Amino acid sequence: MKKISIVVPCYNEEETVGIFLQEIQKVRTASLTEYDLEIIFVDDGSTDHTLLEIKRMAESDTSVKYIALSRNFGKESALYAGLTHADGDYVAVMDVDLQDPPGLLAEMVKRLEAGGCQCAAARRISRRGESVIRSFFSGCFYRLFRRLTGIQVPDGARDFRMMNRTFLDSFLKLKEYNRFSKGLFDWVGYSVDWLEYENQERESGSTKWTFWKLVVYSMDGIFAFSNMPAIISGGIGIVFCLLAFLFLLVIFGRALLFGDPVAGWPSTICIILLIGGIQMFCLGILGQYLARTYSEVKGRPIYLCRETNLILKKEVHDHES
Ligand code: UDP
Ligand code: MG
Repeated sequence: MKKISIVVPCYNEEETVGIFLQEIQKVRTASLTEYDLEIIFVDDGSTDHTLLEIKRMAESDTSVKYIALSRNFGKESALYAGLTHADGDYVAVMDVDLQDPPGLLAEMVKRLEAGGCQCAAARRISRRGESVIRSFFSGCFYRLFRRLTGIQVPDGARDFRMMNRTFLDSFLKLKEYNRFSKGLFDWVGYSVDWLEYENQERESGSTKWTFWKLVVYSMDGIFAFSNMPAIISGGIGIVFCLLAFLFLLVIFGRALLFGDPVAGWPSTICIILLIGGIQMFCLGILGQYLARTYSEVKGRPIYLCRETNLILKKEVHDHES
């Protein structure tokens, strides 16, 4: 019997984990009966009773597995922790709030079984129910991201997907600390089938993303997949050198022709401020790369496990201890 593992990151989701499991069980009896199922909840350092709830469910349902991280590491790390321990033939990634419709799982397995793709992923074709401002900035970000990085993340792409072993093993080879999974999923290549669906509102609880967190996450995405910001800042430097050289010629010419009356200090101050600003901006870009290089070089583990009912894989355990 082939096995499907579903990895579900959870952060303060005590109200949602139970409903999620019920929905998955419905789908299981309706359309996944020929598969063995394992649901790996990754408790990302929740401060509420999420872990307790999960443990309670694990007592009565042997397909419920959990990994509790030692603190909140963020969704990307939680995903990585779960994926590392998933040993199904097919492995799915889902949010716990039911914004990723479990009904699509059956279609995803079908596509993978057919063999035409190594990964079946989901894409929202509407953002109904989502804040207009968030949708707008999100749209702008993905357009900019595709332009700068050449990574093809389609509009509305979610982390919700199911992959076969080949795809997952390749994905797990990417052990970087600053993780932007949507980009990493595209980076590994293979063929991906996109399934489309209408946006679903959160079942209960609230989103864990503040606007600021999303801005930082977007920057992670761009800096992790593109050197373009550094190239652009170099370009700005060259343009300003050329402008300065032209200016020098103009000033020399003018002094030779008309003498050298002292004037124009306000414009000098403006230019100094402008160039100073641009320099700081470019240094900031350099700093972003340096900071990310620094965090990669330190080689800290992507997550730490506090508690689990899974048998931890050897190399991961060694890496953590
Ligand atoms: N999540 C997590 N760690 C975090 C933040 C979120 O594991 O630090 C989980 C959360 O419990 C949910 C999923 O990531 O299962 C997506 O989060 P959310 O629904 O808040 O994001 P949105 O759907 O609004 O993008
Ligand atoms: Mg959500």
